[in-house]
Amino acid sequence: MQYREMPKSQDRLSVLGFGCMRFPTLADGKIDEAKALEMLHHAFENKVNYFDTAWPYHNEESEPLLGKFLAQIDRSKVYVATKLPCWLIQSHEDMDKYLDLQLQRLGTSYIDYYLLHALGKKSWANMKKLKVFEFLERARAAGKIRHIGFSFHDSYSVFKQICLSYDWDFCQIMLNYLDTHYQAGIRGFELAVSRGMGVIAMEPLRGGKLISPIPPEIAKIWQREDPEGDQVARATRWIWNLEGATVLLSGMSNQAQLKQNLLLSKSAKANCLSEKDLKVYKRIRREYIKRIPILCSECRYCLPCPFGVAIPSNFGVYNEAVMFSDPDRHRKEYQWFVPEAGRADKCTQCGACLPKCPHHIEIPTELRKVAEFFKAAPDEQKV
Ligand code: SF4
Ligand code: SF4
Repeated sequence: MQYREMPKSQDRLSVLGFGCMRFPTLADGKIDEAKALEMLHHAFENKVNYFDTAWPYHNEESEPLLGKFLAQIDRSKVYVATKLPCWLIQSHEDMDKYLDLQLQRLGTSYIDYYLLHALGKKSWANMKKLKVFEFLERARAAGKIRHIGFSFHDSYSVFKQICLSYDWDFCQIMLNYLDTHYQAGIRGFELAVSRGMGVIAMEPLRGGKLISPIPPEIAKIWQREDPEGDQVARATRWIWNLEGATVLLSGMSNQAQLKQNLLLSKSAKANCLSEKDLKVYKRIRREYIKRIPILCSECRYCLPCPFGVAIPSNFGVYNEAVMFSDPDRHRKEYQWFVPEAGRADKCTQCGACLPKCPHHIEIPTELRKVAEFFKAAPDEQKV
């Protein structure tokens, strides 16, 4: 295993981190504890030392399961990361309450890397209002947490604002060769590194979308430029090439994936990609982007729709379905992420949104296409 130093501490973290959000499960959806523990032990024996969980993962079973694992090993040999569930916090006292419950669930007296979970514009405003830094500093002074960071899902401008508001130790951002200009993106990564922060890279495979199915024109480029490679190797190599990416966090759901990642991590090397290699990644990115049918920037200027249509969410899921040639998977995502009342078929074609779109998207016409595309979503796909 290779290690990289967390810039603001002496900690040497394994370049591969174990994300405890996709454990194997049983038929009833609960974590298959025997298999999950076997994977955690295998990772530990192979020198993975960064284990990341969060309050809501696996219907709140992930933290207690990680706690069981910690009780079976030498706790001091690993770094544990978990996150304050910001969306559940209604008062300053709630923060202490959740942290204490998390320590109990994990069966530990301290958390090495404590993050504010999934910060975005709204949750960040709420956290500031509730004086989150007082809580974090107090928890650190009490020895309950060691390092302070945040995970993030919003635009670069929000990321920048958060980054500059505090002397953070680290952040966790979505990072992969496709999303270099999405959310924090590569600009956010560079900003964090320039401020001496560690960066935990999440979603290196974009939730599996960079593995399969691969649209034929993209598969052709890979085949020509990197005939020996496979999708996981290509995606992980792109992250590890970035010197400031401290840990690549992978949510593995079986031993085979774990073994593959362990093998790949052996050759994790910063600056390993040549100019020519990087051009191939750029070319692949361009090909994916060319496939996006609606160039919606998700700026939300068109909202609110008087009829409650969640315009950017509809376009977002539709774009991904077309981009990744994977309508079935995205039909499920449509059911999960777009509430029924906000779906494209609720558009009355009134046109009120049209003048508000800076990209002059024919919103009603496009929504009609989206509605048609997702019409086939069977009810049984609802989760
Ligand atoms: S055209 Fe459709 S999406 Fe636009 S404001 Fe009217 S109902 Fe809403
Ligand atoms: S205003 Fe246009 S670009 Fe912005 S979210 Fe709405 S449709 Fe997308």
